[in-house]
Parts: sequence; C-alpha cells; structure tokens
Amino acid sequence: MDEKGKSPGFPYIAEHIFAPIYPVIAAHIVKESRIKRGICLDLGCGIASLGIAVAEITNMQVYGVDFSKEMCRLSKDRAHRHCLSGKVVPLQADVHLLPFRENCADLIVSRGSVFFWKDLPVAFREISRILAPGGQAWIGGGFGTKELKAMISEKMVEIDPDWHTASKKRLSSENLRAMQEAGRQTGIPYRVVQDDSGFWVVLSKDE
Ligand code: SAM
Repeated sequence: MDEKGKSPGFPYIAEHIFAPIYPVIAAHIVKESRIKRGICLDLGCGIASLGIAVAEITNMQVYGVDFSKEMCRLSKDRAHRHCLSGKVVPLQADVHLLPFRENCADLIVSRGSVFFWKDLPVAFREISRILAPGGQAWIGGGFGTKELKAMISEKMVEIDPDWHTASKKRLSSENLRAMQEAGRQTGIPYRVVQDDSGFWVVLSKDE
C-alpha cells in the first residue's frame, strides 16, 4: 500500500508478495509434465515470474508473452537481474493472436492471466495450434500449496479488503466451466487438475 492508500500494483505484488509461489508452481508443472527441454511460453507473464522460475530449473528457452508493453519492459529487467537475459525473452503479444508458428512450443504455462482473456475458445485454439506434438499447456491459476495460499491471502487482504470476493469470482464455477469448455473445443486431449497447486486446464498434444 502506498501513502495514499492505493494498491501497489501487480508488479510490486508479484515481486514482493507472490514471489514464493512461482518456484513451487514451476517445479510442480515440470515434474508432472516431465518436459525440460525445448521452448516454453509463459502467456500473460506479467513480470515473467513463472517463466523465470521454469528457466531456473530446466534447459528451456522461455518466451514471456504479455500484451502490456510495461510488463514486457519489466520482464526484460527482471530476466537480466536473474542473469537469464537471452534465456527468458519478453514478447509483446495478445494470447488471442500469437506470433508463433504451429507445433513450436513444448511447454506452455499461464498463471492468473486466463481470467482476463476476452475469448477463451479463440485463445485456447491458438494455444493448441502452437503446441508441439508431445507438448503440454498448463492454463489456470493458483498459489502452489495450501499454506502459500493462506499466507498470501492474509497479506492481500491487508492491501485489498475485497481480495476474497474477487478471488472467489475468478474461480467461480461458471469461469471454471468456461475454461474447461474452451479446452474441450480445441479437439486435443485435455484434463482438469484441481489440487492444492491451483486450478489448471492441461492440454496435451499427441506425438
Ligand atoms: N502470470 C503472471 C503472474 O502470475 O505473476 C501475471 C498475472 S497478472 C494477474 C495477468 C497478466 O495477464 C497481466 O500482465 C496482463 O497484462 C496479462 N494479460 C491479460 N490479458 C492478456 C492477453 N489477452 N494477452 C496477453 N496478456 C494478457
């Protein structure tokens, strides 16, 4: 919270409050998918926290995609500070029209962004188009573990008294059903993972 009582903004929150969740989520996805090589996209990456966490435990070339110029600038700075310039590269683009050729991405991760996408079927179709055979896309949101979620909720309520209401809205059954339906419409195999790590629609493309 700044002196005027305004929210500090997402980059501050990601860097100072959410920070511990990203390595946990990255480790979970990499362990479950068993994908450690090739190209990884972090869609709606914010300051590329998840993409950087994936780059730190794999040999993947990561592209942090966000439609915000400012987020891309901050991602570049952050990658540099983590000595990952070149390994984590920001790219300004919209998830509904991704500037990647088909079948190119081995792993796609996206945390906390899907709730803002305007047209889920279009975005999920783009994701399935660029996913490489044998690749997986994890689209959703979460905090890594129950304990981390509780700790972060406690801090977030101090900044934003409506945090619990907003978070319930994001994870409403209507939203979750819409994500699932968008996954189904891609026509490629998909499953839903709902556990302590979060809620994920996982798309897998057959080899
Ligand atoms: N994934 C990051 C994280 O977990 O720290 C950021 C989450 S932040 C709540 C949502 C991000 O999604 C913002 O940076 C926003 O600019 C981005 N975003 C929203 N809609 C998008 C779209 N259609 N295409 C690309 N980025 C988008």
